[in-house]
Amino acid sequence: MTPLVDSHCHLNFEPLNTGLDAIFQRARNNGVGHMLCVSVTLETFPEVRALAHGHRQVFASVGVHPNETEGREPAADDLVNLAKDERVVAIGETGLDYYRSHGDMTWQQERFRRHIRAAKQSGKPLIIHTRDAADDILRIMREEGAADIGGVMHCFTESWEVARAALDLNFFISFSGIVTFRNADALRDVVKRVPDDRLLIETDAPYLAPVPYRGKTNEPSFVRYVAECVAGLRHADIDAIASDTTRNFFSLFRNAVPARDDLA
Ligand SMILES: [Zn+2]
Ligand SMILES: [Zn+2]
Repeated sequence: MTPLVDSHCHLNFEPLNTGLDAIFQRARNNGVGHMLCVSVTLETFPEVRALAHGHRQVFASVGVHPNETEGREPAADDLVNLAKDERVVAIGETGLDYYRSHGDMTWQQERFRRHIRAAKQSGKPLIIHTRDAADDILRIMREEGAADIGGVMHCFTESWEVARAALDLNFFISFSGIVTFRNADALRDVVKRVPDDRLLIETDAPYLAPVPYRGKTNEPSFVRYVAECVAGLRHADIDAIASDTTRNFFSLFRNAVPARDDLA
């Protein structure tokens, strides 16, 4: 089988960061060939970068999460400079989250706009997080010309209408372990409709472990359960899902070099 890619995880977060050797071993044993470790603050970006430089199967992104309020606010130039690193393949995660942040959201929208501008300038695609903010996310993506650089709507939980609008803007759709949750019927309908050449899968580890590990610490090896669920919904075999999502990953993140030549 084509090795799977976990297109979104946080290996530098506790408790993953204290057990990485075992986590990489279990990923290998479960057919997971690569993972993208996603940045959430400028302060912790050096940890993300070090993981990608220390492990050929790990890639990095640079960005500040929409709900982060403690750390340094990134200028577009900061992001562009940090994205020059050869192991950085994307800008993010960025976006809007009106579920966890409240009040005047101008600061979050401005931060999102700077990430889009940095992505266009650096030539590296966007990783977009959205929650309770679909109208604003699509409006700002259009206003800033996000379609010119493209990217992924990560941990997708929105409607088919939102998915179709994101597809029209040149974006991929990534599904997490949420697709295995009992109350996710509406999302499972969206899984069935995304075109083969725009589909990605992820864990968002250490959060959102899929069934049968729901509630436990998530890790990249569990992306296999996401792949199995997606395969069932699409009446495809897991081989086809693995080869489509891995090919899609390396076509979206153009400067990600596979650790082994036979993967892409
Ligand atoms: Zn996210
Ligand atoms: Zn994340």
